[in-house]
Amino acid sequence: MNMRAEDQRVAQRGLLRAASLQHVTNKNLHQTDRANLSVALRALLFYLKDDTAVSPTLGGRKAALETLANIKPEAYERSRNYLSGDITRLSAYLRHGVLTLAEVRDYALQQVADPARAGKLVNEFAWRDYWQRLYVELGEGIWQDREPYKTGFTAKNYAETLPEDIATGTTTLTCMDSFSADLCATGYLHNHGRLWFASYIVHWRRTRWQVGARWFLQHLIDGDPASNNLSWQWVASTFSSQPYIFNRENLQRYTDDTYCSRCPHATAGTCPFDRDYESLEQTLFPQLHRRADSNTAPTPPAPYAEPAVRDGKPTAQGKALLWHHTDSLNPAAPQVLAHGDAPAVFVWDTGWLIPNRISLKRVQFIAECLAEMPGIIDLRVGEPADQLLAAAHASGSDYILAQRTPDPRLNAAADQVSRTVPVVWVDPPPFVESNRGFDLKRFSRYWKRAQFAAMQLTRHA
Ligand SMILES: Cc1cc2nc3c(=O)[nH]c(=O)nc-3n(C[C@H](O)[C@H](O)[C@H](O)COP(=O)(O)OP(=O)(O)OC[C@H]3O[C@@H](n4cnc5c(N)ncnc54)[C@H](O)[C@@H]3O)c2cc1C
Repeated sequence: MNMRAEDQRVAQRGLLRAASLQHVTNKNLHQTDRANLSVALRALLFYLKDDTAVSPTLGGRKAALETLANIKPEAYERSRNYLSGDITRLSAYLRHGVLTLAEVRDYALQQVADPARAGKLVNEFAWRDYWQRLYVELGEGIWQDREPYKTGFTAKNYAETLPEDIATGTTTLTCMDSFSADLCATGYLHNHGRLWFASYIVHWRRTRWQVGARWFLQHLIDGDPASNNLSWQWVASTFSSQPYIFNRENLQRYTDDTYCSRCPHATAGTCPFDRDYESLEQTLFPQLHRRADSNTAPTPPAPYAEPAVRDGKPTAQGKALLWHHTDSLNPAAPQVLAHGDAPAVFVWDTGWLIPNRISLKRVQFIAECLAEMPGIIDLRVGEPADQLLAAAHASGSDYILAQRTPDPRLNAAADQVSRTVPVVWVDPPPFVESNRGFDLKRFSRYWKRAQFAAMQLTRHA
């Protein structure tokens, strides 16, 4: 992604400040409480200077394990669609690799007498696995419409900027304004809230899904291009057979009337969601019946760029540099346990953080995860490839060891680095495996093949 001139200036100012903070490691992050940590991060990453919101979700494996200990797989199935339901709140930990999908699945299965009673929760974990597998195939193609809209409109009919009243939470619709405020203040929305909000943005306000997806990624502490963008595409109908819409009755039921009871539109009779589905479809998608080409073939996936270095036994010899990145903040990961004494590095990637305005909430969550990692991690600021090479050079390392990631930016950095220093990937434990591979065209096809393995405990070698 090209940086705008203003972004480049901000990056340079941030880098200058970072350069003045010498020898910043994860141990510096330990010595401070949450408020002090925010101040330090805002000084380090200059673009955050006016950002003050901190997520109530604490980063790190200790907090992750406490959250895991509280999950209720059986109650989840009954109540997960309600905003007050027994959802797990595991997403930020899974997204940053603090917990693996395999270990949370194993834990969930161990909490029930009959595995079927954890079935719905395991099925939701599988959605994450499914999106991640598609991300490996698509790379940056995850930002393209996978298929045409099935709304009677084409992409050109959708706005390319986020309406101001949505970003500022001033639409006067109590539900949508509350979702906007919660997203910006906490970095979290319940899955149903995300669905309603995304549907409102794409279908009621006719805005491109990419615009909403980018805004979500800026704020969500579990912000993940795979789960996020592909869910937006599912709502928009560019990766599903029909658009996702909802009505007031649905929202009112699953929010226990929290919003409608105090919404001016509910009493004035001007709620735009207060219709049956048929009339909503006619209003939102008036041209649908004229749609000519509903069977257009899906866009073929972009070719998957092979990482420069393949996994298996490290071909590289000598001293390792552990590279911790945003997908691998797990102090119990095998490569971390096996190389506890090795020098380690984490790069605050300015080419990702600044253009995407990644919020303090997310940055702080990551910092809190880093604070709990063992050993001393050299915290650098800048472009990952440059910083990795500098860290390898400074520590006299012969190769870089990292957990495999679908993230195209991180893979591009690794490709670049591996021309000089070998990069060896370690795979996290798989959620499911199949010798025949998986059909990723739709979740239902993937799940048909994955289901049996997904419902089993991980077999340890
Ligand atoms: C528009 C939109 C954007 C989203 N953006 C993200 C995102 O950036 N990052 C992210 O992790 N999830 C995203 N999701 C998926 C889902 O909403 C969140 O994972 C979930 O709400 C997180 O809360 P939880 O951990 O309490 O989930 P629970 O309901 O308790 O589910 C348990 C776990 O299963 C996985 N999961 C559940 N539902 C989904 C799903 N639909 N897709 C993928 N994984 C799922 C998550 O890892 C989650 O932590 C998005 C969904 C929508 C509709």
